[in-house]
Amino acid sequence: MTVAGARERRVRAGDVELCVAELGDPAHPTVVLVHGYPDSKEVWSEVAARLSGRFHVVLYDVRGHGGSTAPSPLRGGFTLERLTDDFLAVADAVSPGRPVHLVGHDWGSVQGWEFATVVRTRGRIASFTSMSGPSLDHFGHWINSRVRRPTPRRAAQLLGQSAKSWYVYALHTPVLPELAWRGPLGRRWPHILRRREKVGGDGYPTASLPSDAALGAWLYRDNVRARLGSPRPDAFAHVPVQLITPLDDAFLSEHLYDGLEQWAARLTRRTLDAKHWIPRTRPDQVAYWITEFVESVEGDRVLPVRSGPHAQRFGGQLVLVTGAGSGIGRATALAFAKAGARVVAVDRDAETAAETAVLAREAGAAEAWAETADVSDERAMEQLAAKVDAEYGTPDVLVNNAGIGLSGSFLTTSTEDWRRVVDVNLFGVIHGCRLFGARMAERGQGGHIVNIASAAAFQPSRALSAYATSKAAVLMLSECLRAELAGRGIGVTAVCPGIVNTGITGTARFTGVDAVEERRLRMSAARWYGVRNYPAEKVASAVLDAVVRDRAVVPVTPEARGARLMSRWMPGASRRLARVEPRL
Ligand code: NAD
Repeated sequence: MTVAGARERRVRAGDVELCVAELGDPAHPTVVLVHGYPDSKEVWSEVAARLSGRFHVVLYDVRGHGGSTAPSPLRGGFTLERLTDDFLAVADAVSPGRPVHLVGHDWGSVQGWEFATVVRTRGRIASFTSMSGPSLDHFGHWINSRVRRPTPRRAAQLLGQSAKSWYVYALHTPVLPELAWRGPLGRRWPHILRRREKVGGDGYPTASLPSDAALGAWLYRDNVRARLGSPRPDAFAHVPVQLITPLDDAFLSEHLYDGLEQWAARLTRRTLDAKHWIPRTRPDQVAYWITEFVESVEGDRVLPVRSGPHAQRFGGQLVLVTGAGSGIGRATALAFAKAGARVVAVDRDAETAAETAVLAREAGAAEAWAETADVSDERAMEQLAAKVDAEYGTPDVLVNNAGIGLSGSFLTTSTEDWRRVVDVNLFGVIHGCRLFGARMAERGQGGHIVNIASAAAFQPSRALSAYATSKAAVLMLSECLRAELAGRGIGVTAVCPGIVNTGITGTARFTGVDAVEERRLRMSAARWYGVRNYPAEKVASAVLDAVVRDRAVVPVTPEARGARLMSRWMPGASRRLARVEPRL
């Protein structure tokens, strides 16, 4: 097995011969991808394909893995010093005289930290992107500081990581790991990866896996105990470092990277809601972050400092918001923009959508576009989805926000009024979920859908039968879809705001009254919402938070939280409240 479209060659490094694959134009900046354990260079095939248009991409099988030969004897043949020799031999062969951008995953990242912190590689590395693999030196200091100065929290972190490291102890036992990998474990590994990590397909892992895993056990035996026991005191990175941390990693706690700034002065942090094997499960996001980071270093630009607690998570993600021309939709688009996302602002009003896109760029969006579509129009939504797919990619986050207000008794609400509110508030959400949800599922790289419902979804009201019904349906749709998409790594959230000061009162329909009275009611409602004065920005912040925490239902505003509690625990009171006629 090899990487599709790659040119392969062999590079001698001391006692071994390394299998090196290259893609892209050698005149472009060189990005060297180093694989982990148990793995071979093919783990990078998806990421490499995405990078090869802009970079000279180089992958190699670590000694003893894939097409590279193993040292003899094995003991002592896998030390970090020997692995550094290998890296330098590859770098000299593929990019003589020009430093390379190093990217490592798992043990490739453990090695990468060594390369990026030892003196003899100075001038040969331009940047380092680390994924799921700490420096053994930093790890040693991390353990020591927790053993010497324990607090309950630090002790819990130590115990948590010790439990996650069970396989490291197992790999130190003689012979058994080799027997397991060359026997049943090796045969079952593809199945385990598929079930546990949702990794698979396209000839990955390769046929060499059992042998890679058996020989690679020496990576641990030759290095872990020695380094953790006496970590280097001067393991400072001499290059800019980008750290990508998957938050659901079964092997590594995110706390391992607490205080990493003391070792890497020029550090950019990223987080992903994903498991360990992100080069396979999140190639779009990983390739995007590598590209952005490498280009910033090449251009001698510092990556823009994105503000807010969500910048690590949403930088470069594609976020589509409907109804983005005003109120909650605009505030949400701008909150994602501030976090460095790429934003598609959709509204039926072309002018306000365009304004939001401009504001999003000013707020820090990596890119921002405006699109015009009426969410209730199925054909228009299909065209939107096709265009977004072709021009911007598959959204990582979809916010179905567009909605309209309708107030009045059931008996004065015409069928036409019902159709309009259900078409926009419910079918708009259905079209968004169906079209973009299908693309997210097909891409297989996770994602999140946020549907903006309302507190009216759980608080009945004699004056809101059509609006509340549409929003209750959105809430139930979100719950059902959440259950359906959970297995595909796609989260679904219903956000339920109470009274938020937006332009919704200016466009809401009031039934059963003439035009003059309707105008008066709108103005009165607007005044009332103004006095309440709950800002749309707080709803936006709840939306980002809900995505990060993968929350199912999020009531926003105290009255929405109260209404939710009342509907659950005091339904009688909720029903009595429903009878109160609003006075506007
Ligand atoms: P808003 O009127 O300020 O903004 C709504 C935006 O959606 C506008 O830009 C409008 O042009 C757009 N829009 C309306 N219909 C559309 C359609 N068919 N296709 C595309 N775009 C369309 O209102 P808002 O308060 O920001 O409301 C946003 C969402 O929040 C709505 O779903 C609303 O029901 C919900 N909500 C609002 C409140 C509140 O108090 N403001 C409370 C609970 C829920």
